[in-house]
Amino acid sequence: MSRSLTHELVRHRAGFAYSQLSQRYVDESQANFVVPPAIVGDEILEKEWRAQVDEAQRSYVRLVEHLMERYGWVADKVHRRKMSREAARGVLPNSTETKIVVTGNARAWRTMLELRSSEGAELEIRRCAVAIIKMLSRESPAFFSDFEIYQADDRREAARIVYHKV
Ligand SMILES: Cc1cc2nc3c(=O)[nH]c(=O)nc-3n(C[C@H](O)[C@H](O)[C@H](O)COP(=O)(O)OP(=O)(O)OC[C@H]3O[C@@H](n4cnc5c(N)ncnc54)[C@H](O)[C@@H]3O)c2cc1C
Repeated sequence: MSRSLTHELVRHRAGFAYSQLSQRYVDESQANFVVPPAIVGDEILEKEWRAQVDEAQRSYVRLVEHLMERYGWVADKVHRRKMSREAARGVLPNSTETKIVVTGNARAWRTMLELRSSEGAELEIRRCAVAIIKMLSRESPAFFSDFEIYQADDRREAARIVYHKV
C-alpha cells in the first residue's frame, strides 16, 4: 500500500497497533509505487504520474549519494546511511509503497472499516477496507457479517453496516 494510505490508517488509534517499514533504515532507491486507483487505466494520467514518480526516485538516489559524501566524517556507516535516507526521503511521493503490520481488536476494526469502506473514503484505503471486510467476514462472521458490500454510484465497491457503534 502507499504511504498516503498508511498516513490515513494510523489515525485509527484506539485498539490498534502498527509496525511500519522504516524509510530511515531501508533504502528506497528500488522502491515500488502504488498507482492511485482513480488514475489506473487512463494512459495519459498514468504517464504523467509515472514521469513524476520516476524523477522523484532519481532525485532520491542523487540526494542519498551526495549526503553520504557530505557526512563522510560520520564513522558509523549505518548511522550515516540513516542520516542520508531520512533527509532524501523528503522528495519521495505519497504514492511510495510501504509495508505495515496492523493488529486490532474486533471493535476497533469495525469502526475503522465502517469509516474507510464508505463512499466518502479515499479510494485506495476504501479498496483496502473492502478487501479486509471480505476476509474478516469469512474468518469471523459473528463479528463482521453485518457488513454489506455494494456497488456504489462511482462504480466501485463500498460497504455499509447494520449495527453502528453507539
Ligand atoms: C472520510 C474521512 C476523511 C477524513 N479527513 C480528515 C482530514 O481532512 N483531516 C484530519 O485530520 N483527519 C481526517 N480524517 C481522520 C479522522 O479525523 C479521524 O482521525 C479518524 O477517522 C480516526 O478517528 P477515530 O475517532 O475513529 O479513531 P480513534 O482515535 O482510534 O478513536 C476511536 C474511538 O475510540 C474512542 N477514543 C479514542 N481515544 C480516546 C480517548 N483518549 N479517550 C476516550 N475515548 C477515546 C472514541 O470513541 C473514538 O471514536 C478523516 C477520516 C475519514 C473517514
